[in-house]
Amino acid sequence: MSQTLFEKIIARQIPADIVYEDEQVLAFRDIHPQAPVHVLVIPKKPIARVGDAEASDQALLGHLLLKAGEVARMLGLKDGFRLVMNHGQHGGETVPHLHCHLLGGRPLQWPPG
Ligand code: 5GP
Repeated sequence: MSQTLFEKIIARQIPADIVYEDEQVLAFRDIHPQAPVHVLVIPKKPIARVGDAEASDQALLGHLLLKAGEVARMLGLKDGFRLVMNHGQHGGETVPHLHCHLLGGRPLQWPPG
């Protein structure tokens, strides 16, 4: 199967502004930021989308969320932030590699569009 865009970023075949990395996850700035801070936190394991994760991914998903919170603190989002995972067409997913959007740095509207 061909590699997704995000697998190419993990492999450093495509450049990205990486803000955090460990053995399990990578966090990098979104190329089209929707807020002053817009970071994507992704597992290195190629899970297509959150609804396709399996029970064996439980620890990895927990780790991903913990790291998203840690990155938010690291980037100084003390007034709050939002985490978003888009699943499928109606969810607005465009890259089939699980990613958690970390958005902050301005007040965010609710409900989303
Ligand atoms: P989705 O729409 O699937 O939830 O989110 C995919 C995100 O990936 C979008 O916010 C889009 O701007 C971002 N993106 C697409 N291509 C690239 C790229 O080449 N580099 C980076 N850093 N982000 C990208």
